[in-house]
Amino acid sequence: MVTAPEKGADANSRVANEFSARRLSAYDHFMTTAPAASAVVTFEEARHLVEHHATGISGAEGGVVDLLSAAGRVLSEKIVADRDFPPFPRATRDGYAVRAADVSEVPARLELIGEIKAGDSSAGLTVQRGQTASIMTGAPLPPGADAVVMVEYTAQSGGTVEIKRTVKLGENFVACGAEAHVGQVLLERGARVDQAAVAIAASVGKSTLQVFRKPRIAVLATGDEIVAVDLTPGPAQIRNSNSYSLAVQIQNAGGEAVLLPVAPDEPVRLRALIEEGLKSDLLLLAGGVSMGKFDLVELVLAELKAEFYFTGALIQPGRPVVFGRCMRGRTGHSSAHPIYFFGLPGNPVSTMVTFELFVRPIILALSGCAPQALIFLKARLKSNVRTKTGLKRFLPAILSGEFENAEVELARWQGSGDIAALAASNCYLVIPPDREQIGAGEWVSVMVR
Ligand code: AMP
Ligand code: MG
Repeated sequence: MVTAPEKGADANSRVANEFSARRLSAYDHFMTTAPAASAVVTFEEARHLVEHHATGISGAEGGVVDLLSAAGRVLSEKIVADRDFPPFPRATRDGYAVRAADVSEVPARLELIGEIKAGDSSAGLTVQRGQTASIMTGAPLPPGADAVVMVEYTAQSGGTVEIKRTVKLGENFVACGAEAHVGQVLLERGARVDQAAVAIAASVGKSTLQVFRKPRIAVLATGDEIVAVDLTPGPAQIRNSNSYSLAVQIQNAGGEAVLLPVAPDEPVRLRALIEEGLKSDLLLLAGGVSMGKFDLVELVLAELKAEFYFTGALIQPGRPVVFGRCMRGRTGHSSAHPIYFFGLPGNPVSTMVTFELFVRPIILALSGCAPQALIFLKARLKSNVRTKTGLKRFLPAILSGEFENAEVELARWQGSGDIAALAASNCYLVIPPDREQIGAGEWVSVMVR
């Protein structure tokens, strides 16, 4: 059932076996339902596994919304040019429409035959040899003319214009259809509606757009110590923050969060809530995937006949992250469908980082969005960094500087439970698993939050 590649180093399989063994001793009555095997993979393997599964997912139709409500949504229709762009040869400078051959030697004096403003049709005006027409930016180039001389290089006196600079054929106007031809696809199905997409829709006369439905993403925080945000926590209790941070990340990725009640570290109630969560398009669990005796999430999922694609990634924070799927009958569907799930580690920084690294591609796919690669930016390291090798690290950091001078330094933090440090940071510094030390001034990768 585990389809994750087993190609990790010996160390990986040792970690994986150890991981399984701990699970099996967790709760005796669950011994038979533990994941058939565990797979700890590298960051890149984990990411590619998620991307691979995302390619098999499609979005559902969401109906028609008006243009501005479509902002941030994903198009479920193609947007096609309703006419040529530009629809006429469009002047890009204020000046004089000329025949380039007439001004091959300058100064040249041409007869002024008229003026064309933006919005005017050039009907009636034709530029013959030795003639010119005054033209404004955005106006149609008149027949006969094949270039525009900028007004700065001219002098008008009475009915004639002196041209002081030569101009190349085709200069200072855009030919009809040069940007796009009528019928050409300008936006594909699956495009995110951003300001450029809205501009295109408006330009082709679409005041409404057909979009994909926002996927419903269930969020299940787990842990006996976790209490609801409006309760007063006992001395050893913690308020639930993961459900809310995940909800924000889900919204930003284009999904709709469905927050379930917090699940205790007790298999019967946990199972009931997981089953509830599997009625959504995707289930995100937070907590309960580490090595502790009461980390039951994988055991309960295994009992529900889950397939696991990875049960850990060689990253920090977020190493125990789990990805898999369960076959479920979805409300409104007669046949069983695979519902993907992630078991995210419960430490709040780990929860947020693993969402960014792995969950986003599945939500994008469920939203109908075309796949997007994860791209890190580059900045110069401000002060030396020392780490242990073996894990790819995504550590809270502070990006500063301006324009081309981006600099980054690690935030001071107390580990992956430190949300105060996270809130004071604005990005993650990406440290490759083979680097023990990185010197100040080196170019490093940054994942912007
Ligand atoms: P776990 O992954 O369940 O071992 O939890 C790791 C750490 O994260 C523990 O210190 C938990 O108290 C904390 N934690 C787990 N779930 C949440 C949550 N929903 N909100 C805030 N902290 C949490
Ligand atoms: Mg826990």
